[in-house]
Amino acid sequence: MPRSSARLKKLFYAVVAMAVLIGAAAAVVFNVPAAQDAVFKRAATAVLGQTPEPLDGMRVIVCGSASPLGRDPERAEACIAVVTAEHFLLFDVGARSPLRMAQARLPMARINGVFLTHFHSDHIAALPDVNLASWVQGRPAPLDVYGPPGVQSVVDGFNAAYGLDRGYRTAHHGAARLPPERGPMRAHPFDPGEVVWQDDLLTVTSFAVEHPPIEPAVGYRVDYRGRSVVISGDTNAADTLFVAAKDADLLLHDALSRTLLDPMIEAATDLGLPVSGIMTDVIDYHADVTLLPARAAEAGIKRLALYHLVPVPNALTERMFLRGLPNDVILTRDLHTFDLPVGSSEIRIREP
Ligand SMILES: [Zn+2]
Ligand SMILES: [Zn+2]
Repeated sequence: MPRSSARLKKLFYAVVAMAVLIGAAAAVVFNVPAAQDAVFKRAATAVLGQTPEPLDGMRVIVCGSASPLGRDPERAEACIAVVTAEHFLLFDVGARSPLRMAQARLPMARINGVFLTHFHSDHIAALPDVNLASWVQGRPAPLDVYGPPGVQSVVDGFNAAYGLDRGYRTAHHGAARLPPERGPMRAHPFDPGEVVWQDDLLTVTSFAVEHPPIEPAVGYRVDYRGRSVVISGDTNAADTLFVAAKDADLLLHDALSRTLLDPMIEAATDLGLPVSGIMTDVIDYHADVTLLPARAAEAGIKRLALYHLVPVPNALTERMFLRGLPNDVILTRDLHTFDLPVGSSEIRIREP
């Protein structure tokens, strides 16, 4: 037998032996309780003991990229997280977003506040979960919730609905672990245009947007040590937003695709479904995606990323959503991450 063929044969047997060994090890881990326990304990220690990587800049994480129109278990409803070494802020907290917060290992205990753009259910549904998650992880004060007028009634309502739940948890774990005075959320109403939150390093400024008939609805601009991100909330392509967003590094904007929505409306109309009327109504209160790139460029915005996608796209329709748009526009998915380092104009983008 030629030498090279003998070598190949040896290699083949070595690969087979390795595969058998790996298979046997996997079988032990999956089927032997003591091995399961040992592997799980190691994993739990690694996860719980993980320390966050140091951050010298602003990190923006999409915790929810969906609108209510469509279903995709991979997408939570509207939520954007902004994290720095000193801060952690949430902008809207739609349904399922707490799962993304957990996956992103966000520092719930040091949350500075939740900033609501308006009070549609797809922006506020997870408030009680965010309140509970940050409370049990040791938040040192009540959760502060900022929003335009109306935020007081939203917070009062959730506080009332979850009063029994808070009582059970303090009774179970004790007042030392879950101090009852930190349980109810605190509402902070403001008028659009106001600086809503500020310290030496970071400023959150609100501005009015167009989401009729919701009045007022707001968006937010966050400035941190020379870097900036703007979060639209739900709105048409609004002049007020592009003024407030002037020269921002990153704009996360609500987006509606007529390429996708129009055939859905036609299909629903042909079938005589009442939802066709609802679909038609949403057209005039979300931003037509084809208008956004030029407006963003005119305002000197460095990067446009789309979220709160109407309708929620899948792998095929993501391409249709982006049809005709410049290549650098980003259609976000949950856990898309944008790092804006201080002292630089760079935006590092991590896909989920
Ligand atoms: Zn809305
Ligand atoms: Zn919405």
